[in-house]
Amino acid sequence: MSVRVRFAPSPTGLLHVGALRDALFKYLFARHCGGQNILRIEDTDRSRYNPDSEREFIETLRWVGIDFDEGPHVGGPCAPYRQSERKEAGIYEPYVRRLLDEGHAYKAFDTPEELAAMREHQIAHKLPVGYFGGEWRDAPPSKVEAAEREGRPYVIRQRIPRGQRIVVDDVIRGRIEWDSDQIDDPVLIKADGMPTYHFAAMVDDHLMGITHIMRGEEWISSAPKHALLFDMFGWERPVFVHCPVIVGNDGKKLSKRHGATRVLDYMAQGFLPSALKNFIALIGWSPGDDREGMTERELIEAFSLEGLQPSPGRFDIEKLRWLNGWHIRRLSVAEFVDAFQGYAREPYVAEYWTQVAEPQPEAARKAGEIARMAEAVARDRGYAERFFALAQERTTVLADLPDVCGFFLEDEPPMDPKAVAKWLTQPHAPDLFQFLVQNLFRMNSEAQCEAVLREYAERAGFEKLGPVVHPTRVALTGKTAGPGLFELMAVLGPARMEPRLRRALEIARSGS
Ligand code: GLU
Repeated sequence: MSVRVRFAPSPTGLLHVGALRDALFKYLFARHCGGQNILRIEDTDRSRYNPDSEREFIETLRWVGIDFDEGPHVGGPCAPYRQSERKEAGIYEPYVRRLLDEGHAYKAFDTPEELAAMREHQIAHKLPVGYFGGEWRDAPPSKVEAAEREGRPYVIRQRIPRGQRIVVDDVIRGRIEWDSDQIDDPVLIKADGMPTYHFAAMVDDHLMGITHIMRGEEWISSAPKHALLFDMFGWERPVFVHCPVIVGNDGKKLSKRHGATRVLDYMAQGFLPSALKNFIALIGWSPGDDREGMTERELIEAFSLEGLQPSPGRFDIEKLRWLNGWHIRRLSVAEFVDAFQGYAREPYVAEYWTQVAEPQPEAARKAGEIARMAEAVARDRGYAERFFALAQERTTVLADLPDVCGFFLEDEPPMDPKAVAKWLTQPHAPDLFQFLVQNLFRMNSEAQCEAVLREYAERAGFEKLGPVVHPTRVALTGKTAGPGLFELMAVLGPARMEPRLRRALEIARSGS
């Protein structure tokens, strides 16, 4: 039987890192096995449903490159894939009726006040909290019928068998056992007729032929109720796979302290989808060797349920940064330029830097720098490819590019005052810049630039190249660090070097 897995979010908010990992594991597993990856929208809680959130989920997953074979946005043989639409289509009704008829479910007419009183009593007497039957589980049919005739609102609850051990085999945790007396009777159908997650998800998992229920371990406590529903219907249970939570590198629950939690923020910071996938896949899963940098193809080839780890996966932002550099360096220069241009076009990038990133207003500057760089790249792609090639080794995230190589685009790049104070005030600086301006006509290639700088060093009596290299770098780039000097000089070329050297000459003359 072909593997079928589903990512089944309840779209109530933003797509977070934990949900991304949930979606990614299923995607890798489906692709590894040649199975199907299904998107199902669990929107039966209409009070919390948010259409923007559904869009955010679909668009963010598209950006990451997690695709679906079936889902509300692509259709499929089990459509509709939104539970609210499945409810409208009457899909759940026969199954509720069947559970009621067979005694696996019952109607409960408790009022909110009665439920609150029950809870208070349980807490006060240190009893397990939840609905374990009340007055309705074993109520005679005549009492139920009378309540119904009176038009009293009711919910339909699952009748969890009492005095039994419920056993679920989980791929990661092994055999898990529960005492059924500790498990409350969950609501399957709410008073408004809407199915709850428990009921709709399991009926859909069966109807959609889901072979593996893979999800976060926060759902473990629901597993016995879910497994029992399958048993009550006489359906074969899917395989359960509950993945441990993600924690920060300090071992604490993942939060903003450890990095952004909204997946889209990583896009806006300039992480590549390939790097994010690689990074997220390694949180709680291991390929069985010590590989870290992995392409999508390698991830798919290596993915297996055996590689899922039982201990919490650690989220280490430094590792993500390292992996992003690794993925950037694997791109061809043309792909690298395309990645930046695509990045700059994403509408959320500007929104992130102007409204979300901290500290403001400094972060907002980044939005302008990114947009300006993208325009310049579009104007002269050939030049851009030459300086992007030099920046590739030094780029961690795409948002760094204006810092790493923005100077290539400005005749007067901003000067770091410390660099100016240290290198442009040296006594030989005016003479050096004068010499360079005079020799620009023979400074076209890397080798020629190096030869001219060496010639000056010799002429001025410097044994080492430092006193020549550092002021020249500051003159051309405004900074003390960056790509190799001779390489960047060759990319700039004489025409772009001239105004920069003349400006430096002015500064050096006035400062010395
Ligand atoms: N709708 C549930 C959620 O939002 C899905 C849980 C499951 O995968 O069974 O996480």
